[in-house]
Amino acid sequence: MKAAVAEVDLRRMAALLRGARRVAVLTGAGISVPSGIPDFRSRDGLYADPENLGIFEIGEFLRRPERFFRFAARFYPLLLNARPNPAHREIARWEQFAEVAVITQNIDDLHEQAGSRRVYHLHGDYRTSRCLRCGRVRPTAELLEQIALGYVARCDCGGVMKPEIVFFGEMLPEAAWRAAEKAMAEADVVVVVGTSLAVYPAAMLPRLRNPAARVIVVNREPTVLDEEAAVTVRGDVADVFSGLQRLLAG
Ligand code: ZN
Repeated sequence: MKAAVAEVDLRRMAALLRGARRVAVLTGAGISVPSGIPDFRSRDGLYADPENLGIFEIGEFLRRPERFFRFAARFYPLLLNARPNPAHREIARWEQFAEVAVITQNIDDLHEQAGSRRVYHLHGDYRTSRCLRCGRVRPTAELLEQIALGYVARCDCGGVMKPEIVFFGEMLPEAAWRAAEKAMAEADVVVVVGTSLAVYPAAMLPRLRNPAARVIVVNREPTVLDEEAAVTVRGDVADVFSGLQRLLAG
């Protein structure tokens, strides 16, 4: 059974946002679950299927790319067909009254689809793939046909096309990371959505905030940041943001 979102928490959240000048939003897998993209660790997550274990480890990708692309044949279409939910749309709407930077651990493009203009992908972005041999970059959507037929996605030169997402064991994209740190330090309101903040180093970003910044946490489960938060909203992310939209628009 889904618990109702507490109205008082929503009102507090709306009040903080109304007064905000610069907002840094840090989002994780939980914001995209209502859009049909499974997360990793929850009960219905990707890792619940032992077949998927290690699927995003770079060593495993290089050794057995066919295993990754068998997975991608099911996973890429989910990403390509996903559409923003009320949470992505509401965050994009905040740009009407504040400067908003979105920092995301997600590899999907739902924030961009919703209209957010400043989005930093800490773990890269699935929309492009790069040839591991010659470096050529192509839209991942163009590779879908060969992947659906059961092939490893390959460049014309024969090299494997790796999606431009950060696998475990790879470096984080430095430019996105630096921009995220700066946005976090400059924000007067920090909003954390759909992440339990369990995964480092993204989990340390809220530590870099201005000490005067107010923190809002929206998540189904408790997070390590709850104690420092001005407002903690528990509940389904899409429900929370639908409720918030009603308050902020009214
Ligand atoms: Zn190539």
